[in-house]
Amino acid sequence: MSAATTCEHCKFWVETGGTDEGLVGECRHHAPHPAWGEGGGALRLAVWPVTRDRDWCGRFEERGLANHEILERVALIEKMEAERKARGR
Ligand code: SF4
Repeated sequence: MSAATTCEHCKFWVETGGTDEGLVGECRHHAPHPAWGEGGGALRLAVWPVTRDRDWCGRFEERGLANHEILERVALIEKMEAERKARGR
C-alpha cells in the first residue's frame, strides 16, 4: 500500500473535517448503514463509514483531480518556470 492509494486519494472518500492527527472523511463506496441509539435503542439515522485520510482498503479507486488542484499545479509549474528563467537557464 502506498500513500497514493489511501482514502484521501480515493474517489469514494468525502472529507468532513480534521483532527490534530489528520483529516477525517466518509467512505461512500456502499450505502450508509443504520446507527443505533445508546445501548442499542431506537434507530437514529444511517451513517457512512468514517475513515482517516491515511486509511485504505482493497476497494480503492483513484479520484480525479479537482479543479482547484489542477489550478494549484498549473500555478506551481508557472512559478517554477519563472524561477528557472530568472536564473538564466
Ligand atoms: S475505505 Fe476503501 S473504498 Fe472507502 S474511501 Fe477508503 S480506500 Fe476508498
